[in-house]
Amino acid sequence: SMTSPALLMRVVASAYSVAEKAATIVRNVMSAGDLGIVEKTGANDLQTKADRLVQMSICASLARKFPKLTIIGEEELSADEVTEELIEDGHCEEILKKTCPAQYTGIKEEELVIWVDPLDGTKEYTEGLLDHVTVLIGIAYGGKAIAGVINQPYYNYEAGAGAVLGRTIWGVLGIGAFGFQLTEVPAGKHVIVTTRSHSSTLVNDCISALNPDSVIRVGGAGNKIIQLIEGKASAYVFASPGCKKWDTCAPEAILHAVGGKITDIHGNSFQYNKEVKHMNSAGVLATLRNYDYYASRIPNTVKQSLVP
Ligand code: AMP
Ligand code: MG
Ligand code: MG
Repeated sequence: SMTSPALLMRVVASAYSVAEKAATIVRNVMSAGDLGIVEKTGANDLQTKADRLVQMSICASLARKFPKLTIIGEEELSADEVTEELIEDGHCEEILKKTCPAQYTGIKEEELVIWVDPLDGTKEYTEGLLDHVTVLIGIAYGGKAIAGVINQPYYNYEAGAGAVLGRTIWGVLGIGAFGFQLTEVPAGKHVIVTTRSHSSTLVNDCISALNPDSVIRVGGAGNKIIQLIEGKASAYVFASPGCKKWDTCAPEAILHAVGGKITDIHGNSFQYNKEVKHMNSAGVLATLRNYDYYASRIPNTVKQSLVP
């Protein structure tokens, strides 16, 4: 008889369905028209009704099935009762069919930390740049990002009627990443992807020093990792604090699952244990290939301005 799938695979399979439910909520809030925008630290740090409902949905759905998980979500919410319609209890069968890497088969529920960004790219969501938006569920074990789900609720929204709206990308270290076509930027091309709504002199000086062929400015950490794995950009460079652990955990797992690399601007790897400080104070440097090319060209003046 078959033994039941490893806990990690069951968590990823559930996170997949929970992220699809989240995408439906993101689209429904937008079509209903009342975004309920709240400023957190200021006008460039927003929360909408979608951020709130999706976080409740993801956290409550995963906690109900896996009560011993540590789940850390971006939004600070009042302890409202979660309505039953926000609960998703499905899972993705295809994920359960994959073999769990041997080093993860013994993982227990209480050893996993789930980092949730219910809606990444909120600023862009409020401005109608809908394909910048992602839902991020990152799974960490032993302080490392080992699995993740990125849902892009508005993938294909400009492709017209007939195109399937939305997609779910998932990955596990040692298995790979799925739900997209892995593509590399043409050899020798240097395209940097960076923030569009959180720029600064330091952010721009760092990019200039790297002398790229072109720069893509888009919202969302999840969206920028998608640009890397689909061959749109060769490096994600953000020489600033601002990104948090829930922004990088799921993207890191997926990028690392396909052989890429993400660190802070000094080259330090990120830690995802539950006690870690949330802010990625020393920025982000990520690539699918040729990490060293970019890392070796970050100016010392930039590094000195960003304390980990
Ligand atoms: P961006 O590339 O500007 O979309 O940022 C990626 C992620 O980091 C998003 O979740 C942003 O909300 C967050 N972030 C980056 N910079 C800041 C900032 N200065 N204030 C608040 N959030 C930020
Ligand atoms: Mg975010
Ligand atoms: Mg968010």
